[in-house]
Amino acid sequence: MRFSELFTKTRREAPKDEQAKNAVLLSRAGFIYKEMAGAYTLLPLGLRVIRKIEGIIREEMERAGGNEVLLTTLQSPAVWERTGRWSDEIVDNWFRTVLKDGSPLGLAHTHEEPLTALLTHYISSYRDLPRLIFQFQTKFRNELRAKSGILRGREFVMKDCYSFARTEAEHAVLYQRMKDAYTRIFERAGIGEHTYFTRASGGSFSRASEEFQTLTDAGEDTIYIEPDTHTAINAEVLDETLLAELNVPRERLVEKKAIEVGNIFPLGTKFSELLGLVFTDESGEKRPVVMGCYGIGVGRLMGTVAEVLSDNRGLVWPRSIAPFDAHLVRIRNSKLEISSESHIHKAQITNDVVAEADGLYAALQAHGVSVLYDDRQDVSVGEQFADADLIGLPYRIVASEKTMAAGKYEMRERRSGAVDLIGGDELIRRLAGHRD
Ligand code: ATP
Ligand code: MG
Repeated sequence: MRFSELFTKTRREAPKDEQAKNAVLLSRAGFIYKEMAGAYTLLPLGLRVIRKIEGIIREEMERAGGNEVLLTTLQSPAVWERTGRWSDEIVDNWFRTVLKDGSPLGLAHTHEEPLTALLTHYISSYRDLPRLIFQFQTKFRNELRAKSGILRGREFVMKDCYSFARTEAEHAVLYQRMKDAYTRIFERAGIGEHTYFTRASGGSFSRASEEFQTLTDAGEDTIYIEPDTHTAINAEVLDETLLAELNVPRERLVEKKAIEVGNIFPLGTKFSELLGLVFTDESGEKRPVVMGCYGIGVGRLMGTVAEVLSDNRGLVWPRSIAPFDAHLVRIRNSKLEISSESHIHKAQITNDVVAEADGLYAALQAHGVSVLYDDRQDVSVGEQFADADLIGLPYRIVASEKTMAAGKYEMRERRSGAVDLIGGDELIRRLAGHRD
């Protein structure tokens, strides 16, 4: 992608009403646009990150045996009335609407009810189980506060997955598979070392849940981490009984702020009993399906990476989810206007730099390296570098007269700041050789 053709705009200043670091950085770097509190549009750079995150999640869900579906966002109240969750007393964040004929509808805030009801049409025998079903779907939640940027939206994309098993033992196998998949997802997205497997409360349908909590001061949760085992306990469930059960001495725990990037819930048979999802087992007996549910906020994950891995110059993307692998900066000739004599000379060299940079751009792409190529003529070198830092691609490559004269390019790693002067072939080898 040529920068001159990229639909975005970087800004020195954050939107005035934006407090959250993730949204400030992502807005300034031109990844997102704030439509209103809690609702953000994805611009091309942001959408590329979201697509890559979805790609990682999809791979891990499919590796675990998941089937991808896409349920509707419009939801009929009937099925929610059967579990009691159509009520505002039980679920306080419904967005509702009405049809022309006056009948009420809900906008999806989650999908346990519709999916369980749907499966009654497809599951009847032990041969139809187990199943893991997932989707990437837009959820609407009328959140009370929406001050955490894309960490808490009123409209956001969630990956939700639901498991359906014949027995508790079979459920436990699926649950463990999902737990492993989540561990890999957060690892691959670059926040593994900051993310803690955390015991939490179960809400209305579960005994207990487990959360994946990423340490950040932007987080709304308080957790107690156990550094040796990289596990944690959410403050909402911390008590003597649980400490005894987990065999963790209170004094080893350290209090931290964290954001829940994902969670996994055993649901037992509550939904299947209320909605009639039963199967006939090997001995001909009818039994309710044992369920689990597993969520990840896709935008929240992008925002969490923005919070956790950025520095004072801007975003810092791990290559696995970066919108592009490398940022190629072609530096224009700054002395172009100095004298008429050198004008001709320098303009000639500039053309060579253009040809050189164009060639590298094509060669990198031919080797599977995605490149944002800053080919702009009308901005200063300072602005080009500031934009590269702000956008935060893993590698910045500079093509200038100076580097060309040495037959090399300057390559800088965004995260460490390490700089190398290397030839084109070596550069391609290094970038093409690296895979997450
Ligand atoms: P929280 O405790 O943060 O309010 P939750 O417990 O309501 O979240 P779930 O209903 O289990 O979350 O949703 C699954 C995942 O969706 C969460 O782990 C989180 O990553 C993400 N998520 C939840 N609410 C939001 C939101 N308002 N905006 C963005 N992502 C969200
Ligand atoms: Mg929660």
